[in-house]
Amino acid sequence: MAARPDSVLPEGLLEIMQCPRCAGALKERAAPPALLCEACRLAYPIADGGIPVMLEDAAVSFDD
Ligand SMILES: [Zn+2]
Repeated sequence: MAARPDSVLPEGLLEIMQCPRCAGALKERAAPPALLCEACRLAYPIADGGIPVMLEDAAVSFDD
């Protein structure tokens, strides 16, 4: 697995993940670890071990 600074996700996982609400592409945030859907303005947390929690109930809205 190639080392990617600021990434805790397994290689290739981000490319196949999609937002459970809108099915859109996600991007990774390093700190605190989360996957962001810019369309929904939701951040899905990434648990210890690099496992994203892809539940709307677990997501928090963000603004930036
Ligand atoms: Zn979305």
